[in-house]
Amino acid sequence: MPEDFAQPTTARVRYDQQGPVAVITMADGKMNCVNRPMRADLLDALVTAHEDPGTTAIVLAAEGPAWCAGADLNEMDSEDAEADPNLHRTLIGYMDAMEKPVIAAIGGVALGGGLELALGCHYRLAAPGAKVGLPEVTLGLFPGAGGTQRLTRALGLEAASNVILSGRVHKARDFEGTGLFDEIVSGELLARATGFAQSLASGACPPRLRDLKVAMPNAQGYLELVRMAVKSNPRRLPGQLPAIDAIEASVTLPFDEGLEVEYEGFRAMRASLASYAYRHAFLAERRAGVVEGLDPKTPLRPTASVAVIGAGVMGQGIAMACAEAGYQVTLLDLGPAALERAVMRIGAQYDRAVTRGRMSDAAKSELMARLIPATDYEDIAQHDLVIEAVLEEMPVKKAVFERLDAVMRPGAILATNTSTLDVNRIAGFTHRPGDVVGLHFFNPANIMRLLEVVRGAATAPDVLATVLKVGKRLGKVNVVAGVCDGFIGNRMVEQYMRQAQFMIEEGATPAQVDAALERWGMAMGPFRMNDLAGNDITGAVRARQRAEHPEAILPAAPDLVLERGWLGQKTGLGWYRHDPAQRRPQENTELTQALTDWRAAQGISPRRISDAEIVDRCLLALVNEGAAVLAEGIAQRASDIDVVYLSGYGFPVAKGGPMYAADSMGLSNVLRRMREFTRLGHGDAGFWTPHPLLQKLNKSHRNLKDYGAKQ
Ligand code: NAD
Repeated sequence: MPEDFAQPTTARVRYDQQGPVAVITMADGKMNCVNRPMRADLLDALVTAHEDPGTTAIVLAAEGPAWCAGADLNEMDSEDAEADPNLHRTLIGYMDAMEKPVIAAIGGVALGGGLELALGCHYRLAAPGAKVGLPEVTLGLFPGAGGTQRLTRALGLEAASNVILSGRVHKARDFEGTGLFDEIVSGELLARATGFAQSLASGACPPRLRDLKVAMPNAQGYLELVRMAVKSNPRRLPGQLPAIDAIEASVTLPFDEGLEVEYEGFRAMRASLASYAYRHAFLAERRAGVVEGLDPKTPLRPTASVAVIGAGVMGQGIAMACAEAGYQVTLLDLGPAALERAVMRIGAQYDRAVTRGRMSDAAKSELMARLIPATDYEDIAQHDLVIEAVLEEMPVKKAVFERLDAVMRPGAILATNTSTLDVNRIAGFTHRPGDVVGLHFFNPANIMRLLEVVRGAATAPDVLATVLKVGKRLGKVNVVAGVCDGFIGNRMVEQYMRQAQFMIEEGATPAQVDAALERWGMAMGPFRMNDLAGNDITGAVRARQRAEHPEAILPAAPDLVLERGWLGQKTGLGWYRHDPAQRRPQENTELTQALTDWRAAQGISPRRISDAEIVDRCLLALVNEGAAVLAEGIAQRASDIDVVYLSGYGFPVAKGGPMYAADSMGLSNVLRRMREFTRLGHGDAGFWTPHPLLQKLNKSHRNLKDYGAKQ
């Protein structure tokens, strides 16, 4: 290379010359996101290589787990997102105009903008296990740097539409033999890519995807069907319909005009409220894994062997989650009958998965072989991690933890799945409270993503760090919570339920409350949820509340249900009538009458309650309690509360979580609405006193997201 071509090696991009091939390596030590500094460095390197007469071809490689993980979401809302050199026009546009070929050598993930960068290269070589995809729709966006225009040309309309609209991540080898990859390389990728680059005839015009036509007869007819299918899906993602418009432009318009349609659609999408909320949800989930004050280098304890105590509903689910993550699990219960029943139920669940084609027989056998039933604590004494899921009664927990304290090897982690009991008291039943932690799974534990990791007053940092790692391996979204009744999620949901119940006393029906909240986006309304979970749980919670807080005013409506033994789906009657012949629950007319009689006896004349009131009362009940949870340090940050609700309670991602929704509403509006509800004069008068934290934040013009730990 002549001297006047300085090698533009930077902190993010390395530049090496291998004979006539320039190797540009993205190596920012993180995920090689195409943020502004990365784009600028890449462009510099490409220009240098292009202008160097000694270079005939360029290999674009990367170091680290990611070839390029796409746009930097932290940059998305700043001016830098669009600043030059931008990805879609400047950087990829430069490659379009190059006379020397650029060969992408993809060893790690190439997602979103990363895959779009690769599609802008002239050739693409990938390791078989490299991961590719356009996950933008899962972030409330769709591809905005040529993905909808070039992938359709590389893969064909149907396959590309599937990749774009599903947002799924694929193995590179799934696309072997398609126009996406020129070669899937089993051996040493970089050596092969430089060899490939050298073999290209110098001076030949490099091929560009943009010059191809999207081949498919009746493409628009096909897209119309896809559009109809997406439109009729109530759970569709906000970026899917505009993505279809952009895909259609790849068929109907010349390339540059298609690119323009895509970019304009992308910009509009990015500025939409739903898109902000989706991105908030994504970043919040990442942030939740960071625990304030916990050194990320904390050495971990071993977790090779896991025991689950209590083989009931939760114990079975937890054991399944552990087996599915590859752990050997010893499942311990009082007697062989309970264990036999548990193993049979687990087997039956996996059998259903096999029948539905979701699991192979061999996979089922492998999972079942990982479950070892036991009745003797001596069998688990040397295990690394014990997760207790016995009855929710303190004396039972006490007996179990005293026994664990006596038998377990020093250093074993002792976790409890209690949903309401005091983890500090449970830790106090042992002589090693530092080893005790709460792991609050949600039902069904092998399916629900949320895991509340409850940090006791004495929980040792390495215990916390280790269970967070275990949670990750189980595929869970970890949120750290402090000790209080109900932790983050259930403590807040009680207030939400309470408002829902007050409203049916005031004149609404369970179906109206559920419908309003479901239309707003909740996966399931509160009454349907109660009937599914079983109203006996409501009964137990109320009994405890009455004992512990005799001053609290509880809605009377649940008693109407409980007194009649209407436990929900399991008894066929609850807030609804559940007829096995009907798909949807029906009105429980006896309950309607009981409510009418109750109102008459109380002198309450029923009033019409609007959907807006239903949604706001339920949402703001969550927000007020969420503020308390935050102020007491039970949650580390407002966004952790959002993660709990998004991953554990079916809260709509497009609304970002309750705390995000409150910030979006504006705290002054939140407080004004609470004052309006006070004037309704029903229920617990103190209920709508805004938590002091809300008042304080509003006064200083700050938001809930600004409170607490460093963001
Ligand atoms: P369950 O009644 O279905 O199961 C409890 C099991 O524990 C039974 O198999 C019982 O035989 C066994 N058991 C009782 N005493 C025992 C002992 N001394 N030693 C060993 N085994 C013993 O209860 P569940 O619904 O699975 O709940 C278990 C725990 O999980 C509770 O603490 C509960 O609060 C918590 N939890 C439940 C849910 C839920 O939705 N069910 C959700 C989250 C957390």
